[in-house]
Amino acid sequence: MTAIYHCPACGKTVPADRPIWRCDCGGPLDLTPGQGLVRGDIDFGEASLWRYRAALALDGPPRVSLGEGWTPLVIRRWEGAAIHFKLESQMPTGSFKDRGTAVMLNHLLEVGVGPIHEDSSGNAGSSIATYAAAAGLPCRIYVPETAPRGKVVQIAASGAEVRAIPGTRQAVTDAALAAAGESFYASHNWHPYFIEGTKTLAYELWEQLGFRVPDNILVPTGYGSNILGLDRGFDELTQRGEIANRPRLFAVQAENCAALAAAWAAGAAGYVPFAARPTVADGIATVKPVRTEAVLAALRRSGGGAVAVPEADIAPALAALGRAGLFVEPTAATAGAALTRLLCDGTIGSNETTVAVLTGHGLKATDKIADLLGVPAAG
Ligand SMILES: [Zn+2]
Repeated sequence: MTAIYHCPACGKTVPADRPIWRCDCGGPLDLTPGQGLVRGDIDFGEASLWRYRAALALDGPPRVSLGEGWTPLVIRRWEGAAIHFKLESQMPTGSFKDRGTAVMLNHLLEVGVGPIHEDSSGNAGSSIATYAAAAGLPCRIYVPETAPRGKVVQIAASGAEVRAIPGTRQAVTDAALAAAGESFYASHNWHPYFIEGTKTLAYELWEQLGFRVPDNILVPTGYGSNILGLDRGFDELTQRGEIANRPRLFAVQAENCAALAAAWAAGAAGYVPFAARPTVADGIATVKPVRTEAVLAALRRSGGGAVAVPEADIAPALAALGRAGLFVEPTAATAGAALTRLLCDGTIGSNETTVAVLTGHGLKATDKIADLLGVPAAG
């Protein structure tokens, strides 16, 4: 059964049987609602996101997998509350992106894609370069000149071509768009199948919590693929009668670059202009999210919201996570900072079931973490 794309901007529908990344009108495409699954459809012997294959809009079994998904959910104390931390940092390439990448790339292989390229500040680039290598596809990644060294090294080690672009993050995207005629633009921010992959986070949390949904989920958010994936996954579980209530979703942003939080604070349904400043949380320093309206709508529907954390709160959160045995990159540490704030101001009760998603591993950003924590050089 061929899946269908729908364009919310112009209303057009297109079969998902070819490599396309956006609508002819220029808008982002969505996959139409999926069939979901019931708990009996889970492949319990498969210790990866492929245990939920019955819910994925793919024709056959995966052609490439590195064992992505089925990441640990561990409980740690935070401000006196028992919090569930979801360790997406323990994915094959060290970030949550592998959920989206694995499902997107398997779809692209099914519809016969050739060489691919992508633009990324780091984690998505590492993920796509790694999975392209595993699939034997030629791959080129456009990165900002200022991209963290560890992430660029990770991309290069997979054999992908790295193109460093000077100027703004937008200049990097423009370079990738200009190359769209040469190879397929496998954009994690545009391609609907990336969200088809991130939706497995919803299934996993539901199953790991004993087939219950939590009260709250906090997610470091740039473009919002995890928020949209969670919304899609919980939608499907609701449709299939597996869950009766929905968790509140909180998109966590760095105050210095908070497009979604600015729109949220303004009560807007879409993008509002805001001043972007540098932040140590490079993975969520998104100036203009592609699906701003959809992310805001998902947050509103869930009863949650967008939270901007001050730059000064990120290092203490990173340190506290580290001392709890959770070594994460600064972007992921924003979840800890937001958690402190929402617990202290009473938005989240300490008796509620709360999940904080830790999106990226600390080993990706050791230079930055050394600066933040004042770690002296050895010797
Ligand atoms: Zn359209």
